[in-house]
Amino acid sequence: MADPKGFLTTPRQTWPRRSAAERVADWNEVNEVYAGQHLLPLVSRQAGRCMDCGIPFCHDACPLGNLIPDWNDLAFRDTWQAAAERLLATNNFPEFTGRLCPAPCESACVLAIDSEPVTIKNIEAAIAEQAWRLGCERPLAPPGPSGRSVAIVGSGPAGLACAQQLTRAGHRVAVYERDDRIGGLLRYGIPGFRLEKRLLDRRIDQLRLEGTEFHAGVTVGADLSAAELRARYDALVIAVGATCRRELPVPGRALDGVHQAMEYLPLANRVLEGDFATPAISARGKQVVIVGGGDTAADCLGTALRQGALGVTQLDINPRPGERRTAEQPWPVHPKTYRLTASHEEAQALAGRWDGGRDGARDGARQGWDAPVADAVDMADAVDALAMAGEGAAGADARIFSAATLRLEGDPQGGVAALHLAEAAPADRRPRPGTQQVIPAELVLIALGFCGPEPDSPLLGELALALTPEGTLARDSRFATRLDGVFVAGDAGRGQSLIVWAIAEGRAAAAAVDTYLTGATALPAPITPTDRPLVV
Ligand SMILES: Cc1cc2nc3c(=O)[nH]c(=O)nc-3n(C[C@H](O)[C@H](O)[C@H](O)COP(=O)(O)OP(=O)(O)OC[C@H]3O[C@@H](n4cnc5c(N)ncnc54)[C@H](O)[C@@H]3O)c2cc1C
Ligand code: SF4
Repeated sequence: MADPKGFLTTPRQTWPRRSAAERVADWNEVNEVYAGQHLLPLVSRQAGRCMDCGIPFCHDACPLGNLIPDWNDLAFRDTWQAAAERLLATNNFPEFTGRLCPAPCESACVLAIDSEPVTIKNIEAAIAEQAWRLGCERPLAPPGPSGRSVAIVGSGPAGLACAQQLTRAGHRVAVYERDDRIGGLLRYGIPGFRLEKRLLDRRIDQLRLEGTEFHAGVTVGADLSAAELRARYDALVIAVGATCRRELPVPGRALDGVHQAMEYLPLANRVLEGDFATPAISARGKQVVIVGGGDTAADCLGTALRQGALGVTQLDINPRPGERRTAEQPWPVHPKTYRLTASHEEAQALAGRWDGGRDGARDGARQGWDAPVADAVDMADAVDALAMAGEGAAGADARIFSAATLRLEGDPQGGVAALHLAEAAPADRRPRPGTQQVIPAELVLIALGFCGPEPDSPLLGELALALTPEGTLARDSRFATRLDGVFVAGDAGRGQSLIVWAIAEGRAAAAAVDTYLTGATALPAPITPTDRPLVV
C-alpha cells in the first residue's frame, strides 16, 4: 500500500491545464506538458491517496484490466521504471488513454463512494511519459519469426494494438490504411490540442522499428481486394472503425455551410500536418452552431474557438445532467454528470468577456425558452480581453441543453443563416410547443455520433460479412467472422466506443488470431466481444 493515511491527509489535485487564454491562441496540448519533471512530485503525492483496497473496483472498471493499485504504489515510491513495466503489461498505448480516456476507473474508485477518487488517469499519463524518458519504450525485438503472416485493415487504436501484439509474437504483420497517414481517429478526428500528433508518430515509429509494415493510402476493397489479401496472408483482421455518421434530418440540411463534424475536424488536423494553410471549412469570423453533445461536439467547439469563430453555441438534446451521481446511477457505474471539458472551459472563459450579446439568448433558452435573440458578439475581442484580464470572471456555458433542432434557414445565396430550435420534452425529446427560438448560424456542424461501419464500404461489399441488428460486423466469441481466418476488432465490431475499448479489442483479437495461427497463445485477452461497460 502506498501511504496508509494518504487518502485522509492529501486532497485530490488534478494535473494543471494551461490558462484558457493561452490555450485558444495555439493548438498545443491543453495540459501542462506531461513530460515536465516538475509535476512528478504532485503525481507521487496523488498516487499516495490509493487505499490499495482488497477488491480494486478501478481495475475491473478498466477494460484493459490496468493494474492500477500496483502502479499507484510504485509511482508513490518514485520507482517509475517498475511502474512503467506494470502499466505496459496491460496497455500498449497509455499515452493515449492517460490523456483521452473518460476514466471509468475513477468512477469505480472506492474513494469515490463518499469522496474524491484517485487521479488515476493523470498518474497513468505521467507513468507513460516516464516510460519513454527512461527507455522502457524501446522497440521490442520479436522472437524468431513464426513463418505466419497477418494483414490488418484500419490503423486506429484497435488495428495498431492488434498489430503490435502480433508482431511481438513473431508474426509478419502489415497494416493497410485508406487515409494518407496512419492513426485512424487519433490522427484526423481528435484535434491536436487534445492529442499532439508527435505522440502518435512516436508510437508508430516504435511499431515500425519492431517490424510492423504500414501501407497508407490503400482502400482495401477498391485499390486492393480483400481476396488478394487473404491469398497473401494467413489471417485478416478488419479494424475499419464505426465511421458511418448519424444525420440531422431537418429542412435546410442541404444548405451551404452545413457539415458533418468529421468533414470539418480532419481539415483542421491537416492544417497542423502542413497539408495546407487554410482549411476549406473554417469557423473564422462566423457564428457557429454545433449540434450534438459528445466528445466530437466538444472537439468542434475547441477547434472553432482556435479558428477565430465569432461565437459558438452547442446544442445538446439531453437535459443538463446533475453535478453528482444520482441514486439511479449508483457507485461503481460511470455516471452521466455535468462535465466541463477543456473546450467548454475555454468557451466559458471567453463568454465571461462578452458584452451580454448572444449569451442572453443562450441563458434565455436554458432558463425558460422565452428570451429574445440578441445580436452577435465578437469572439476575437473576447480573446484579447481575456488575455489582458486573466482568467477571472467566467461567463455562460456554450451549451443549450434540451435543445431540439427544428430547421435551418438560408440566405439568398443558399448559405445557412439561422437555426430554429425548441425545447425538447424530457420524456420523448419532441419539441415543446411555444418554445421556439432562432439563433444565428453561419456554420452548422453535425456531431450526432456514428452508427457502425460504413454500409457502402467496398470491403464489406466484397466480403459480404454478416451484420448484427445494431449494424456492426458480426463475429463469434473468438472475434472470428464466418469466413475462415477473417477476424473483426474495434469499433467495427463493437460499435462507436472509446480508445480504451479499441486497445482492449486489438489485444484480445490478437490473442484469438495467434491461437488460430499456432494452436495456442500466450497473449492476453482482456475482454470478450460481448463485454460491455458496467451500466444500470
Ligand atoms: C472527434 C472524435 C473524438 C473522440 N474523442 C475520444 C476521446 O476523447 N476518448 C476516447 O476514448 N474516444 C474518443 N473517440 C472515439 C475513438 O476515437 C474511437 O472509439 C476509436 O478510435 C476506435 O478505434 P478503431 O481502431 O476501432 O477505429 P478508427 O480509429 O475509426 O480507425 C479505423 C480506420 O480504418 C480505416 N479504414 C476504413 N475502411 C478502410 C478500408 N476499406 N481500407 C483501409 N482502411 C480503412 C479508416 O480510415 C480509419 O483510419 C473520439 C472519436 C471522434 C470521432
Ligand atoms: S485506460 Fe482509462 S479506465 Fe483504464 S486505467 Fe487508464 S484512465 Fe482508467
